[in-house]
Amino acid sequence: MWAARMQLPWLQVAMLFLFHLWRFAVITTTYTFFATAGAVSRLNAVPVFVDIDPKTYNIDPQLIEEILHKKSFGQKIKAIIPVHLFGQSAEMNSIMDIARRHNLIVIEDAAQAIGAEYDGKKTGSMGEFGCFSFFPSKNLGAYGDGGLVVTDNDEFAEKLRILRLHGSRPKYHHKFIGLNSRLDNIQAAVLEVKLKHIDKWNEGRILNAEWYNKKFAEAGLIGDFINVPYSNGCGHVYNQYVIRAGNRDGLAKHLKNNGVGCEIYYPIPLHLQECYKNLGYKEGDFPISEFAAKETLALPVYPELSMEQKEYVVENVRKFYGR
Ligand SMILES: *Cc1c(COP(=O)(O)O)cnc(C)c1O
Repeated sequence: MWAARMQLPWLQVAMLFLFHLWRFAVITTTYTFFATAGAVSRLNAVPVFVDIDPKTYNIDPQLIEEILHKKSFGQKIKAIIPVHLFGQSAEMNSIMDIARRHNLIVIEDAAQAIGAEYDGKKTGSMGEFGCFSFFPSKNLGAYGDGGLVVTDNDEFAEKLRILRLHGSRPKYHHKFIGLNSRLDNIQAAVLEVKLKHIDKWNEGRILNAEWYNKKFAEAGLIGDFINVPYSNGCGHVYNQYVIRAGNRDGLAKHLKNNGVGCEIYYPIPLHLQECYKNLGYKEGDFPISEFAAKETLALPVYPELSMEQKEYVVENVRKFYGR
C-alpha cells in the first residue's frame, strides 16, 4: 500500500494543487446553455455557479454577492458572465454595481438576446464585453455557425482581433496563442441581409409572446397549471417563450403527439453535468435551477407563426389541462 502510494507522481500532484489555487474563477449561472461555462473551462479557469431568480431564470445578483463574501473561497474570481437567458436581459444595474465594487470584468452572454433592451441600453453593451451567437436557432441566425464579440474598449478590441487570427500579428508572429475564430464570408453575407430585419422579427416574437400570455390568462391556466414569462422591466426578445408547466413531461408529450414543436431548456443545470463532477457540486446545491429544469417548456414563438398555428398551440395546451 505504502509502496503503491510512493509511486504517485508527487510533483504532478503538488503542481495540480498549486495550479488549482491559482486558477482563475468566473462567476456564472448554472441554468444556461453549456457554451457559457465551456468557454471558461477551456481556458483552464473554473466556473463558479450561482442560482437563478425563479421568475426570470436569470442569475440572481443577491447570490453573486453572497459568493463574493464567502471568505473561504480559494480561487481568484476575475469575472462575471451574466446570461440574458431566453432573450430576457439580466438585472444589469445590480450586476454592474457588484462588479465595480469587487473589481470584476463583466462579459455578457447575449447569445439569445440580440436587440433586447435594459434601462435604455442594448444587451451586450453594458459589460466590458458582449457576446452574440448566430447559430441558426438564434434570433439572428446564419446558415451555419457564427458569432460576434463587442467591446467599447479599443485595447480589448485590438487584442480580440489578434486572438481571432491564431494570435498572429504581424502574420506568422505569434504574441499570443489565439484561435481560428473568423466569421465565414458566406455567413457574413447572409447576416448582412438578415440584420436589416432583426428589429421587425424581434417585434414579431414579442407580439406572439404577449398574445400567448393573453390567451393563457383568458383560459384560466395561469397560476394553477402554468406560469408564463415574467415581465420585470428587463427587456425580452423571446428567443424562447418558456412556460413553467405542472406535469411538464406529460404536456410535452401531448404537444409533440399533436404536432406542436416544443423543447426543454434546459433539462440538466450545469453544476450537475457529468463533465463538471470534479467541481464537487451535488444535487440540492442550486434548488431553484434544479426545480426549473423539471418544469420549463418552450413553445413555438418564431415571428412567422400564423394565427392558426398559435391558436392550435393554445388549444392543445388547454386540452391537456382540461380547460
Ligand atoms: C447559443 C448560445 C451560446 C453560443 O453558442 P455557439 O454555438 O458558440 O454559437 C452561448 N450561450 C448561450 C446561452 C447560448 O444560447
